[in-house]
Amino acid sequence: MTGEAEAAMREHLIREDGQEDVLAATYTFSTGNERTSAVIRSVVLPGNGDRLVHGNASFTSNYVIRAATEAKARGEGLVLLHSHPGGSGWQLLSGMDHNTESEYERVARGFTKMPLLGMTLAGHDTTWSARLWFDRIKPTWAESVRSVSPKLSVTWNNALRPVPAVTASQVRTVSAWGPRSQASISRLRVLVVGCGSVGLDVAQRLAATGLAQVGVMDFDAVETVNLDRMIGATRLDAALGRSKVAVAVRLMKSAATAKSFKAVSHEMSITDPEGLRVAIDYDIVISCVDRPWARAVLNSLAYADLIPVIDGGIALDTFPDGRLRSGIWRSHTLVPGRPCMLCLGQLDVGEAALDRQGLLDDPKYIAGAGRTEPTRQNVAALSASVSAALLAQFVSLAAHPGGRGVPAPLRYMLAHHELEHSPATTGAHCPYEYETTSADNRTPLTDHQDAWRRTVAERKSRRMPLRLRALAVSEQMLMRAISRLH
Ligand SMILES: [Zn+2]
Repeated sequence: MTGEAEAAMREHLIREDGQEDVLAATYTFSTGNERTSAVIRSVVLPGNGDRLVHGNASFTSNYVIRAATEAKARGEGLVLLHSHPGGSGWQLLSGMDHNTESEYERVARGFTKMPLLGMTLAGHDTTWSARLWFDRIKPTWAESVRSVSPKLSVTWNNALRPVPAVTASQVRTVSAWGPRSQASISRLRVLVVGCGSVGLDVAQRLAATGLAQVGVMDFDAVETVNLDRMIGATRLDAALGRSKVAVAVRLMKSAATAKSFKAVSHEMSITDPEGLRVAIDYDIVISCVDRPWARAVLNSLAYADLIPVIDGGIALDTFPDGRLRSGIWRSHTLVPGRPCMLCLGQLDVGEAALDRQGLLDDPKYIAGAGRTEPTRQNVAALSASVSAALLAQFVSLAAHPGGRGVPAPLRYMLAHHELEHSPATTGAHCPYEYETTSADNRTPLTDHQDAWRRTVAERKSRRMPLRLRALAVSEQMLMRAISRLH
């Protein structure tokens, strides 16, 4: 849910007189590969006589039917919420709660053809819990409830996703932000899209921070021209034409501090429906891509599916004689309450459309349109500044230092040594932000593509010279021996 919806529901459910209360809302599904999220769409406030508040609050059937009718008209599902004023932590269902929700499961299904979503707010520490009723016998518990605003707040269902044990190598991390933050941050699933110089660095530092699962997505391979920036990639990687995600997984495993660390490689494109479904399985996405189509897809994901996207990049500017004039690097987090890439001027819809048509890779089109291919200059000494800026956004989003969340979009001017806060605001008529919480009903921006599938398949079927294969085998043996040291 958005932070705004969370605040509205919390305000209603936590009463000054300390009594329980009830509330209805609607939701849409956001369907990933392995995970489905229910995204809160709108709050249906009770009218006069819609509920009975007498110690144990209850819905009247009029209220539930009115909310179900509204959900049906909008093509959405029904949510029934109630509070446990004295409760703290993830709440289970009392016998009476169970019976009420089980009873209304039929109403929800009859009207909306979607399962009922039940939610509880614990009044003592304002944590949320949730479950979906796929039948009326017993609910399926959610793994987490996420509230997304410039601060990401997650309530975890400890039974389904237990707190990872703190390891000996994490002592200094935990002493920096406390065991509570570590318990939440380490359980976040973070996806890094684009494994170039910045993505590779970010992925390793997330693994070292103690996250239990980091995914990496890229369908490119390491080439010699990348070796000046992809720190940790070797000449053997370039000679073998190894995939960037394989290199990222190797480096993440060696940097990881979690007891059981899951490095997941996704050799695919975010602009493909398959790539988007994978991204929906994650809690935070870090965008390290410069292609406009990929950026448009990520921009949509942030608002439609409420998955915060941390984005940034670098642009270097040279004089005609080749000397460095200046450089700019940016970092910003795309969440409701902060401007999207389009409103920030960091996404050109026309370029994204050309990219989607494949024209940005078509030499004939490039020559015909009088365009020059982007030079994409970058130097390793500066790309660390971009990854540092993205990681600081990650810490602001997940750990809220000083009680504050992510800043306004930031921009560092290299020649002037100035860090600027962008004055850009969220666009009132922005097509991306307008689709906030639309989830599976979002405007489709992805296309099934054969090009990256062919690239990946060709790479996998390539035969390597014996000498390189022998080196790769010895490298693997060495890595395995080192990992046994842990
Ligand atoms: Zn916008």
